[in-house]
Amino acid sequence: MSTIDNLPPLREVIDTHGIAAKKSLGQNFLLDLNLTAKIARMAGDLSGADVLEVGPGPGGLTRGLLAEGARRVLAIEKDERCMSALAEISAAYPGQLEVINGDALEVNPLTYLTPPIKVAANLPYNVGTELLVRWLTPPEWPPFWESLTLMFQREVAQRIVAQPGTKAYGRLALLAQWRAEPRIVLDLPPEAFSPPPKVSSAVVHLTALPAPRFEADPAVLNRVVAAGFNQRRKMLRSALKVLGPDIEDHLVAAGIKPTERAEQVSLEEFCALARSVASAS
Ligand code: SAM
Repeated sequence: MSTIDNLPPLREVIDTHGIAAKKSLGQNFLLDLNLTAKIARMAGDLSGADVLEVGPGPGGLTRGLLAEGARRVLAIEKDERCMSALAEISAAYPGQLEVINGDALEVNPLTYLTPPIKVAANLPYNVGTELLVRWLTPPEWPPFWESLTLMFQREVAQRIVAQPGTKAYGRLALLAQWRAEPRIVLDLPPEAFSPPPKVSSAVVHLTALPAPRFEADPAVLNRVVAAGFNQRRKMLRSALKVLGPDIEDHLVAAGIKPTERAEQVSLEEFCALARSVASAS
């Protein structure tokens, strides 16, 4: 029995259900249930909330979320091998855990969950950033989620909280800081995982702001920022040429020097640029 519930320790679960970690699915499991409960606490008070968990694997974080009092958990896992292990957790928490065997990029969580909704996940790097960008750029705001508590490679976590003028500053920082308040809440060494990945990890907590910090159309802002940082060493008037021939006028209208590089441009200035570009189209 484990320290947080009456279910078997995770090593035993992995052996019993034959869930040897697969590299192709980005599987680096958290086996310490005290640590997964700690990460669940970082998602805030779960007692009145539904939780979307992406990539539960053998269920370490899922058990943490349930033990910390989540009202309901929807867990979406791609790996069929994990289903029997997750079914045991469902049985231990009747009516509280729903598991979907599928790709999180293709499931609409709102079909299953009722607000307030918090998101918690320890995901492979590429899926994690793809989902983060999607969760930050819906056409309407506020979004379906109140907060996101997500594990990333440390370097990606630093990109999310980065400030202008730093190497880590770019699209992720701008999108995250535009509509949310991101903070790194925990650093984890490779040894916290089984098998240990090559790099360190960090948990980022993002709280959705009631309204974006500055007005801008999400699709236009996303396009402007992606183009600006795609060629980050170039002056903006060259890097943004792909957006149209009059981009230099838009830069001036937004109060940005056309010779500036994306790294030096603040969130407020990028939003002004996105508004100017949108008004002309
Ligand atoms: N949450 C578990 C933990 O902390 O031990 C597992 C973490 S492991 C880093 C990532 C999990 O995400 C794996 O179980 C993997 O199968 C799953 N996964 C990968 N891609 C996915 C996708 N597109 N949709 C849902 N789950 C996915």
